[in-house]
Amino acid sequence: YGTFQDITQHKRAENIQTVLYQITRATMVSETFEDLLNVVRKELGRILDTTNFIVALYEPEKDTLKKVIFIDEKDEFIEWETENTLSGMVVKLRKTVLLDKDEEARFAEKYHLNLLGSPAECWLGVPLISGDKAIGVMVVQSYTDPKAYDQSSAKLMEIIARELVLLIERKKMLEDLVIAKEKAEESDRLKTAFLNNMSHEIRTPLNGIMGFTNLLNDPETTPEERDYYSRIINQSGRQLMSIIDDIINMATIEAGQAKLRETEMNVNQLLKDIYLQFLNKINNSQVAFNYHSQVGDKQAAIMADETKLMQVLVNLIGNAIKFTEHGGIKFGCRLHDSELLFYVEDSGIGIPEEFHEIIFERFRQVEPDINRVAEGNGLGLAISKAYVGLMGGEIRVESEPGKGSKFIFTIPYKPVSGEPAEVAPPSQAGEAIIHTDKTLTILLVEDDYSCLLYTSDAADEEDS
Ligand code: ADP
Repeated sequence: YGTFQDITQHKRAENIQTVLYQITRATMVSETFEDLLNVVRKELGRILDTTNFIVALYEPEKDTLKKVIFIDEKDEFIEWETENTLSGMVVKLRKTVLLDKDEEARFAEKYHLNLLGSPAECWLGVPLISGDKAIGVMVVQSYTDPKAYDQSSAKLMEIIARELVLLIERKKMLEDLVIAKEKAEESDRLKTAFLNNMSHEIRTPLNGIMGFTNLLNDPETTPEERDYYSRIINQSGRQLMSIIDDIINMATIEAGQAKLRETEMNVNQLLKDIYLQFLNKINNSQVAFNYHSQVGDKQAAIMADETKLMQVLVNLIGNAIKFTEHGGIKFGCRLHDSELLFYVEDSGIGIPEEFHEIIFERFRQVEPDINRVAEGNGLGLAISKAYVGLMGGEIRVESEPGKGSKFIFTIPYKPVSGEPAEVAPPSQAGEAIIHTDKTLTILLVEDDYSCLLYTSDAADEEDS
């Protein structure tokens, strides 16, 4: 008696199991994706011809494929367009493509491909599918054997492609986690630095207010001293108010609640007002302060959010004053294409290039806490950038340490159609102008006693 059994299929199934086991094991231990693909190529080589073996990932922004591994007897590509390639078609169709040489030509004709690369006798490509997207392609090809691959090779490649996608997704998830962790730690560090700095920034004016208020009551204080102390108290109060404004503005921006309120305004008038406002504040005679507008009076009437525009300019000029000991500060505006371009230039300490981008992030300051030459909460530029963005423009800085800085920002130019708006006489900041001869009766409803007292006393003084 004799018996025989065809064990080809059995052997093949066994081989496939071994290959899959080895590949799964390699996914655990391989350091890089390329290492893993070398194992895949070797293991897969037990079952099919992997002399020519390519794995490439799809770059959607450029519509190209970029090699992860490219082992080929005839060609060598690093990155290639999806157009005119079989690999590109696999990604586009999200389907396995198995072709011999004749089929390759017909396929190219059907999809109007002008094929790059050397033609193969047998070509097999499977997509790497993640969710409903093809994120890459795995290809084997033979330049000698027209029957190198068949449907079962295609099935095996598809199984391996699924393993690879799982690995890519896992790696991506880990990378994202590391980035998220680094971001969270960075944000934590910045917040701590911000809180330390803030507590200093808030305490300083508060100490000023509390300390000098006590001195005001001291019977030995002379009238001149009293006058001086009350000016300090006033100044400290304003400083505190500006810090609180910054915090509230930043919180409003972060909550996505900052809104644009465009009204008719005159840009030349705004520059003039800001100039006058700062002129009184610059007490350093070594710094020249100027402004210049190249916008003609007829073009100066625009639609814009005046409060936000003003705040950006005030922040930039305030910084220029803070960081400039000698030389000059100038600011201005001109029309540039369909935009209004504003600049604030100083000859101060300057900013190293590596900080040019990040100073626009909240809490970022060039100098670490203890070395700081100037006060500040690190919010001004973040607020300015957000406001400029909201107004539809961009902001950037050109600067070199020791030579000074130039902050430049744009907003869309929206001229007011018709007659330009009347230029109002310049008003001093904080000064309310009431154009009326009539005596006004004002009803004030207030639940805070000090506010009530202040308002009625201030009104009495106005009367006198
Ligand atoms: P701050 O309240 O600290 O000034 P900003 O957001 O306005 O906060 O500025 C961030 C940092 O950018 C500043 O702390 C400073 O290091 C740097 N900076 C801003 N403007 C200037 C300037 N004109 N010259 C030099 N450094 C500047």
